[in-house]
Amino acid sequence: MEFRCPTCRAPWRRVTLCGRCGTDLTLVMHVARKAWEAREMARELLWAGDQPVEAVRVARTACQLHATPQAHKLLALALLANHQLAEAQVVLASVGGDHAAPPTESRHTPDEE
Ligand SMILES: [Zn+2]
Repeated sequence: MEFRCPTCRAPWRRVTLCGRCGTDLTLVMHVARKAWEAREMARELLWAGDQPVEAVRVARTACQLHATPQAHKLLALALLANHQLAEAQVVLASVGGDHAAPPTESRHTPDEE
């Protein structure tokens, strides 16, 4: 996901000061780095396959630090690995996509009445 200046939304140019507004991005970059590290740890835990509870915890931390669509999808995967299907569906629905729609009891719509 593209990183942007939190002040003016300018795309990040891999420098510590925003080229548009001069905002110091050091702290934001630090948080984004910690979020990336948490996502990597969650992936490793999922790959190992024997610590799904810890994978969920770490994936939640990653989402709290930097709520990217990828972070939410990783959290959903960790939740699935931990047999938390309902919450995984809620997380996927929050990032959109038809694949995230929970099953419905009926396909009946008001237009059909
Ligand atoms: Zn800026």
